[in-house]
Amino acid sequence: MGSTPLRILVTGGAGFLGSHLCDRLVAQGHDVICLDNLFTSQKSNIAHLLGRPNFEFVRHDVTDPYLAEVDQIYNLACPAAPGHYQYNPIKTMKTSVMGAINMLGLAKRVRARIMHASTSEVYGDPEVHPQPESYRGSVNPIGIRACYDEGKRAAETLMFDYHRQNGVDVRVVRIFNTYGPRMHPYDGRVVSNFIRQAITGEPITLYGDGSQTRSFCYCDDLIDAFISMMNGPDDFHGPVNIGNPGEFAIRELAELVVDIVGGGSSIVQARPLPADDPLQRKPDITLAKDRLGWQPRIALRDGLQRTIEWFKSADLSKYRPPTPNY
Ligand code: NAD
Ligand code: UDP
Repeated sequence: MGSTPLRILVTGGAGFLGSHLCDRLVAQGHDVICLDNLFTSQKSNIAHLLGRPNFEFVRHDVTDPYLAEVDQIYNLACPAAPGHYQYNPIKTMKTSVMGAINMLGLAKRVRARIMHASTSEVYGDPEVHPQPESYRGSVNPIGIRACYDEGKRAAETLMFDYHRQNGVDVRVVRIFNTYGPRMHPYDGRVVSNFIRQAITGEPITLYGDGSQTRSFCYCDDLIDAFISMMNGPDDFHGPVNIGNPGEFAIRELAELVVDIVGGGSSIVQARPLPADDPLQRKPDITLAKDRLGWQPRIALRDGLQRTIEWFKSADLSKYRPPTPNY
């Protein structure tokens, strides 16, 4: 990266991961444009950055073109929680596909390097475990998760076609479940639900019997990987898995959260497993270790403790439940 400040565009920059990325880039002295339509986030995530001379917020929807002279683009704009992306599935697909086209068009025009936030959902309900990048996935193309999964798969296709056809310098990361402070408390994701429920003494809601697994990465580890990938070897475009290989049954996560928070929340089977909900998920991160020298450092208990502290300090009444699906 060198010591020269770069002009960096972060789409989805006011969201959970985007705001942590903006924090890091602003602290490094870069000139950061945070572009977001605030669909699943709020300005409070970036309020502390608004007065900084090297930070600028632009309210904009990535389905419309946006032009700016920049050196790097991190493309994160997309609702990420199932309840959020299923709220308006057609818009979700448009955001992934048209957002990718608009940002790739910009990268091509100004010769910027672009890093795209893809997802472990490209593997669908995987038959190969753990998932290496070479696994092509098992996605139901007409199911309720398809707007997100197939949107992200199409965006990956666009990244590599712009690279082959137009020489755009692309980087693709496949993010596995990531958690931490500034997750939307009402996004319906498992970590935010369980922590909120434990703090308020409500029952912890397992979907299904809680034997399905996920692997949880703390946000700070993920941001390290983003920066390493964006500034990594010239010939390394990915896709690369980024996640924590520690694998936990959802019931284990519930027990851990209750153990840390204390209090009397019961753990209940609240509803059947949602349609197409993957039964297992764990990243093979051999490639990230080899090419980026990256691996996560923060254990689940430590990361949960930090996240729980943030949830306790947050004023939950200030968060708008953006959808009825939380
Ligand atoms: P988030 O919902 O907090 O952030 C997404 C941001 O994108 C929000 O600020 C939202 O307002 C914005 N956005 C949505 N549609 C937009 C549009 N059309 N135009 C402009 N802005 C728009 O979610 P997150 O967890 O921070 O996810 C960030 C990125 O990482 C997403 O692309 C997501 O798919 C990807 N990802 C996240 C995870 C995870 O576990 N957190 C896992 C896999 C992939
Ligand atoms: N889940 C759950 N209770 C909740 C929310 C989610 O048991 O209150 C389950 C969900 O069915 C899934 C897992 O937790 O099996 C992770 O869900 P999340 O929405 O966080 O992410 P994703 O399914 O996209 O990995």
